[in-house]
Parts: sequence; structure tokens; C-alpha cells
Amino acid sequence: MDVLGNYKSVISARSTDKDITKKSQDGGIITTLFAYALEEGIIDGAIVAGPGDEPWKPEPVVATTKAELLAAAGTRYTISPNLNLIKEATRSYGLDRVGIVGTPCQMQAVRKAQLYPIGMRDVDDKIALALGIFCMENLSYQALEAIVEDHCNQKMESVKKMDIGKGKFTVYTERGAVSQMPLKLLSKYVQPGCNVCLDYVANLADISSGSVGSPDGWSTVFVRSMKGNAVWDGAIAADLFETKPMDQVKPGLDLVTKLATEKITKNQKNVDARKTFGLKADGTAKGLRNPYETP
Ligand SMILES: Cc1cc2nc3c(=O)[nH]c(=O)nc-3n(C[C@H](O)[C@H](O)[C@H](O)COP(=O)(O)OP(=O)(O)OC[C@H]3O[C@@H](n4cnc5c(N)ncnc54)[C@H](O)[C@@H]3O)c2cc1C
Ligand code: SF4
Repeated sequence: MDVLGNYKSVISARSTDKDITKKSQDGGIITTLFAYALEEGIIDGAIVAGPGDEPWKPEPVVATTKAELLAAAGTRYTISPNLNLIKEATRSYGLDRVGIVGTPCQMQAVRKAQLYPIGMRDVDDKIALALGIFCMENLSYQALEAIVEDHCNQKMESVKKMDIGKGKFTVYTERGAVSQMPLKLLSKYVQPGCNVCLDYVANLADISSGSVGSPDGWSTVFVRSMKGNAVWDGAIAADLFETKPMDQVKPGLDLVTKLATEKITKNQKNVDARKTFGLKADGTAKGLRNPYETP
């Protein structure tokens, strides 16, 4: 099973831009690559998860400046429907070269819109850079509130950063408190749709990035497509990243492979179980829909 997808290279990296690493979730890979791509004219805007009306509730935005990218840096562990803007980006925003960041499912949606553009005129050839973030599971906003306010006993508005890692959901407040919830309590809050997801490391992105595998403050980066490769090489030549070979960092690629395998194996079982979920009146199995099969 090819759980990590196709890639040209995998590197541990962090941004050399301190303004970005102060705000980014991990090594600031996404914000740095978009800022570089904007400056170089590779993209003329990027769809990112900007700040919304409520604390930690993202609102997709088209960022056309580094300041807007910085305002959207960091992870919000709740749905941000970034694809909602993909068509509009080529309409009222007038973009010809669209950047977009998203979870593995959102990268799948981008590629599907390019290959089967149903109601997506002009979108396919205007996607200039699709950056993926690793994703084990996602949460509704209400679920996130319950975790932060009930389990971690903190107010959403006083939280500075949230992080999932080392078996814990961790909340850091502006005033320096650190509260945690064991990840084994997370499963009842997970978006049900995530239980049939078979991609952990954004296999369909041009470049994908996550924290797992690399030390704190660094990211694990998969450079996947020709386009991704060209952008990555340009950013390296411009000294935008410090890098280390993946086989020289701990915990390294073995942990990424282990987590990807666990996610896909567990969720493949859920996909299979849907086939025989119910019973027809005659006692034979009646299944639920499987989006990976043609009906
Ligand atoms: C729901 C979720 C689950 C994740 N699970 C894992 C995991 O299991 N293992 C792992 O290694 N990494 C996971 N990540 C990715 C990780 O948290 C970081 O997003 C990633 O390492 C990029 O960090 P960075 O410093 O390079 O990016 P930054 O420079 O901080 O940029 C992050 C970009 O992601 C965008 N973004 C933030 N929240 C969302 C969202 N909800 N939906 C779409 N875009 C968003 C921001 O707008 C920003 O442009 C998860 C992220 C999310 C959103
Ligand atoms: S687990 Fe899969 S379906 Fe759920 S948000 Fe992450 S990538 Fe999307």
C-alpha cells in the first residue's frame, strides 16, 4: 500500500522568516511558499483559512499580500471550506494564477474540479499551486468548542495556539497556561465524514507539509509534482528554508508511514463495513454508498 503517495523528495524544513515562524503552526512551510509564490508572480492570490467572526472559526479568504497570509497562518482544527472560493477567485477576484491550501480531501476536490469541472468553468487551468497539509481527522466548530471549553477548561478567545501531537490535544493560552486532553477522547468528536478518508499526507498536492516526523518547530515536506518541485527549488535557492535530510531527523519518516498506514487501514475497514451496513426485507445485505466505487 502506497500510503505516502507519489513524491520526488521528502525533507525536514523550517522557514528562515521569523515573522512567519512566530505565527505559523510548524515550520511555516505553507505561508512561506505562498509569500514567495506571490512575490515571484507564480500565483496572484492564495485561498487560505483566514480569521472568522468567532474565535478559532476560520473563514476562507483570498490573500493577495503577505500580511493577509500571516493573518491566516496556523492551524484551526475545524472545517474551513476553502474550496468555496475556488471559482469566485477566478471571477470577482480576477485571479489568473490561483494558490490554494487545504487538507487531503480538499486537494482531492481541487484535482477533481480540474479533471471533471462540473460547474467549474475556467478553474482547471488557473490552479497554479495547491499546497496540502497532513490531516488525521477534523472537527466541527461545536466539537472544537467542547474540547477547548469543557475538556481543557479554557475560553476559546483566550487561546493562542492549539496543537495535536504526542497523544494529546494541547491548548496554549495568551497568558501562558497549557491545558491538554488525551487524544483517546477525541474519537466521538470527529466529523463522521473523516471516517472514510484514505489520505493522510495530502497525496494530490503539489507540495504537502505536516508536523509529524520532524522535531518541534520543523515540518515534514513532500515535494510531489513538477510544479511543486520548481517552486521548492526556487524557494531553496532564495534561502527561504533551513533543511535537514529526512533520514537524519527524529522521529522521521517511519512515524509518518506508521500513522498513515493506521489511518488508511482503519478507514478502509469503515468503507468496507458500509457495504453490508443494513438489511433488506428479504434478509440480504443493503449497503450504504461507497464514493470510491462507481454505482
Ligand atoms: C484539521 C487538521 C488536522 C491536522 N492533522 C495533522 C496531523 O495529524 N499530523 C500532522 O503532521 N499535521 C496535521 N495537520 C497540519 C498541521 O497542523 C499544519 O497545518 C501543517 O504542519 C502546516 O504547518 P505550517 O507551519 O507549514 O503552515 P502555516 O504556515 O502555519 O500555514 C497553515 C496554512 O493552513 C491553513 N489552514 C489552517 N487551518 C485550516 C483548515 N482547517 N483547513 C484548511 N486550511 C487551513 C492556514 O490558512 C494556513 O494558510 C492538521 C491540520 C488540520 C487543519
Ligand atoms: S480526515 Fe480526511 S476527510 Fe477529514 S478533514 Fe482530514 S482530509 Fe478531510
